[in-house]
Amino acid sequence: LPDLAGPSPTSSSGPIPLPEPEVKRLLEQAGIDVPRGAVAAAPDGLAAAASGLSAPLVLKAFGPGIVHKSDVGAVRLDLGAPDRLAAVAEEMRAALAAHGLRPAGFLVEEQAAPGVELIVGAVRDPSFGPVLMVGLGGVWTEALGDTSLRLCPVGRTDVEAALAELRGAALLDGVRGGTPVDRTALTELILAVGGRGGLVERLGNDWSELDLNPVVAGPRGATAVDARLLLA
Ligand code: ADP
Ligand code: MG
Repeated sequence: LPDLAGPSPTSSSGPIPLPEPEVKRLLEQAGIDVPRGAVAAAPDGLAAAASGLSAPLVLKAFGPGIVHKSDVGAVRLDLGAPDRLAAVAEEMRAALAAHGLRPAGFLVEEQAAPGVELIVGAVRDPSFGPVLMVGLGGVWTEALGDTSLRLCPVGRTDVEAALAELRGAALLDGVRGGTPVDRTALTELILAVGGRGGLVERLGNDWSELDLNPVVAGPRGATAVDARLLLA
């Protein structure tokens, strides 16, 4: 992926996480739906950055050591007016400082409508190559342990089967009279990750782990609202 990953990482110790806004740019280039968003280096730039976005908004901090954002106060949902963003970002900066962390910048993005939260991920297995994972749960993925694996590149039938074999697959059809999720959009998103010519293929050999967690699947569309990519 020439140019897409930005400047070469200087540290050689272990996998390097790419900042979330950059991962989302890669997803977008691969045809994966991500929330509309903008970046500001400092809190006072956020209102201007957010001027073209529609509320409700989500604010996130990114930077070295900021991994599980919810655990360190680096995600705020349901934000309204852009002129409040700077104050929320200052609170975030203080919360992060208490954890010994300093944000490199802030990402403000539109908040996706509620839906079923899934994880779509990939790892590179030393003998099998890239392996795709789909699962239900978003933040509860680990607790539920409800995931399916497929070797990449996956085809449409693989993706449909991987989704169908989840123990919680019925959630995708709408629980208690709820609206079913957009299976087509969800399948297309997963194919854009692990299918022929998809993101995993385009990343080549320079990565070790990709996590879209969660992907929010609604009645119309599926959006990757969080994204993590570890460069090898
Ligand atoms: P973490 O690093 O803690 O995983 P996330 O970016 O996944 O942080 O945000 C935490 C939760 O907030 C997500 O699991 C999702 O439920 C919600 N969330 C985050 N971004 C958005 C968004 N743009 N739209 C809707 N919900 C979001
Ligand atoms: Mg997440």
